[in-house]
Parts: sequence; C-alpha cells; structure tokens
Amino acid sequence: MHKIPFFDYQRAFSGWVDDFVEILRDTIGRGAFILQAAVQEFEDHLSEYLGIKHVIGVANCTDAMIIALRAAGLEPGDEVISPSHTMVATPAAIVHAGATPVLVDCGPDHLIAPDSIRGAITSRTRAIMPVQLNGRTADMDTIQKIADQYGLLIIEDSAQALGSKYKGRYAGTFGLAGTFSFYPAKILGCLGDGGAIVTDDDEMARKIHLYRDHGRDENGEVVLWGLNSRLDTIQAAFLDRQFQVFETVISRRREMAGAFQEQLADVSGVVLPPAPDSDHNRRDVYQNYEIEAENRDDLQIWLSDMGIGTMIQWGGKAVHQYRALGFDTVLPATEQLFERCLMLPMNMSLSDEDIEYICEAVRGFYVRGM
Ligand SMILES: *Cc1c(COP(=O)(O)O)cnc(C)c1O
Repeated sequence: MHKIPFFDYQRAFSGWVDDFVEILRDTIGRGAFILQAAVQEFEDHLSEYLGIKHVIGVANCTDAMIIALRAAGLEPGDEVISPSHTMVATPAAIVHAGATPVLVDCGPDHLIAPDSIRGAITSRTRAIMPVQLNGRTADMDTIQKIADQYGLLIIEDSAQALGSKYKGRYAGTFGLAGTFSFYPAKILGCLGDGGAIVTDDDEMARKIHLYRDHGRDENGEVVLWGLNSRLDTIQAAFLDRQFQVFETVISRRREMAGAFQEQLADVSGVVLPPAPDSDHNRRDVYQNYEIEAENRDDLQIWLSDMGIGTMIQWGGKAVHQYRALGFDTVLPATEQLFERCLMLPMNMSLSDEDIEYICEAVRGFYVRGM
C-alpha cells in the first residue's frame, strides 16, 4: 500500500544533510554559537527579501509575538483581537505580554473576518493580530481601515506565511511588526525552534533587540527586563542555506495546490482553499492545504486506511473551544468549520503521483456514497 504521512520529518531534511554537516563542522570549528555572524547574515537576507528595514531572529514565533507585543507597549487591561482559528500560541502571547485576548470569527477563506473584528472592538482595544493562516494573507486593506478608524495597532502572526503576498506586499510587513516561525514543519523550517520579528520601526527594532538578549544594549548595559530569546547561530546558518532556494519551494507548493484544485474541483463533498491563480491580489504559499469536507471524520478514517495521513488543525479545536482557557465566546463560523476542516498532506516530500493517489482516495470516498 501507498504510505503518505501527513509530514515526513526525516524526508523533509534528508536532501540537506551534506549542507548541514558542513555548517556543523564550520560552526564547531570556530566555536561560534550565540549571536554570531550567521544570524546577522540570515536577518539581512530576510530583510532584503521582504523589503523591510529590520529583521530580528529570536528563539521561536511564540517569543516573537510576546516580544513584539511588549515592545509595542501593551498594558494590563488592553485588549488584543485575534482569530480563534489559530494556534493557541497567538492568544497565549497576548496573555504573556500582559494583555487580554479577544477571539473572533473567521471568514470563508478560514482567515480572520473583518466584520467580526469590528464587532469585537471596545474602548480597551489596542491592537489587532491577524493570523496569516495556511500561507494566505488576510484582507489587509480592510483590516488597516479598521485599525485607522479606531486607532489600533496591527501586529501580524505570519508564522505560516513567509513569502505570501497581498497586493504585492509580503505577509508580516503590514503592521507595526510581523512574526515568523521556523519550526521544522513550517514552510521555511530549521532543525529545532526558530523565529523572527520584522519591523520598519526603528524604536521597535531597538526594543526588540534588547528583549531578545536580557535587556542588554550594545555596551552590555542592562536597560530593561529582557528575555533570553536568541535565534541559534547554527539554526540561522541552516535557514540561510535553505532560504537560497526558497522561491522554488513556493513555486512547488503552488503547483501542488493547482494539482489538488484540478483533481478535486468537481468532488461535491469538499470545499477547497482558494486556487493559486484565483485572485490576482494574492500570492498564497500553501503552508497547509486545509479543505472542508462532508463527513469529515469518516473521510479521515478512510484516508488513513489508505495510508494517507491528514490532520485537523490545532488538535481539532479552535482556541475558544478549549474549556480550560475560560472563554465564553460563541463563534458560529469557526465552530462550524471545526466540524468540517481537514488538512491534506502538503509538503516538499510529495510527488505528483502522491497527489494523484490522495485525490483518487478522496474522490473514492464520496463516489462510494459515503
Ligand atoms: C507555528 C505557529 C505558531 C508558533 O510558532 P513557534 O515557532 O512554534 O512558536 C504561532 N502561530 C501560528 C499560526 C503557527 O502556525
């Protein structure tokens, strides 16, 4: 039987072993591990790519969000609006920055719905945190209008959207700051944890540098209560190496999304993500391929029986549905979505034949009359 894991961690990096060994030798040979040249080099390449002034490598995207929110000056009692269809890391970062997360609904493309943002604004709202989910960028024109109208900051959780564009502009570069994750399964992943914060604002960048490294300035003087959240030099070097071919990764992912679209468009039991060329304002990078499916749970079992790994994002619940977190919010669109959403495999280990096999399996499920 064909075996297609949802994400094959071994295969994802097997083609990079020689590069990685070379980087390891070099790094160990120089004994240069913390905040060395490779970090700055990777930051520079990313900043050039995104067309943004400052990139600051940090330990992971959760820290990136906490630091960005703290540097933005949030205070206790401040409310920050984020979608509930996100990793718990987004609202957790808001909590750890001392503010209160307010979770809102998503739209048909599974991303934060601007109307839902409007409905959640109170006198205490300070910021909006759109989540650029599944490699797609939210409707940033409308979100910017809302932010302007109510005097709110925008800080993006663009963990899943490196390289994604909206009207020619990269995810992560719209608001006061954007944040990225280099977790191994992310579109640009390292061999452990990694993250980055990007901003055009000099004062934000200054503070973020301080927070990243124990609050110490260039002279070693401690000027605020900081954290230890440095991107490892060795991970930065790995990332920089892979970043050289990053555009080919995006092209391949868009090609795979096109293949899914072509082979599944006429299957009436599923709703597909927007097709790669369906919107000239957007370049989606397909970090995930999240479909909606009738009889989702049975489809998932059916696919599993055929050797195909799938996942429901966030362990099967939107954040407000985790009872221990104490939300009493009702979000109808998100709740309905979580009975239907399913991620098909979408990664660089897949062949065209794998995608055909997956599509045949999905089609087979609905043809046999469920
Ligand atoms: C992966 C992810 C995060 C967390 O990133 P880490 O680097 O693991 O901290 C946050 N938000 C979203 C949307 C993610 O997908």
